[in-house]
Amino acid sequence: MKWLALPAAILILWLHSYFAIRVFSHEGRVLLLVLRSNDTTESWLRRNPPNADTWEALRPYKVKGLAGVVILPGRRIPRYEYRSGTTLWLADLRYALLAVPYWLLLLLSAAPATVAIARASRARSRATTGHCLTCGYDLRESHDRCPECGAANPNQPDDAPV
Ligand SMILES: [Zn+2]
Repeated sequence: MKWLALPAAILILWLHSYFAIRVFSHEGRVLLLVLRSNDTTESWLRRNPPNADTWEALRPYKVKGLAGVVILPGRRIPRYEYRSGTTLWLADLRYALLAVPYWLLLLLSAAPATVAIARASRARSRATTGHCLTCGYDLRESHDRCPECGAANPNQPDDAPV
């Protein structure tokens, strides 16, 4: 089940993106920007989703993230300027922002696979050197069962001739 956690989270974000979240990348980070605007700016924002320049404008100075992760749960720019045609408009822009670096996502998503590969590698190494697959006990002098943990000896099956 734990393997399904990441795909499930991505699915939720995907579904959410149809409502208010703009997903884009900037300087190695995945950015989620949730915009709350009034009806006047809504249609304009849908036609002109925030880009990297907007991210620079919306990111407040002196924000320190942990490991590159920046969370801004709720911010407001009372006089956010945007251009529609030749007219310059001012909007009361409310937004939440989450920035996560790709390397962190990669590290987190690769962790379960790394553990699985390490386990398989260790088991293969134990099998080829005549050690118990479960506890690593040396089975070269043993018979069908591991004297340490009772696991079956992979190199001497029960039905093998003695
Ligand atoms: Zn054992």
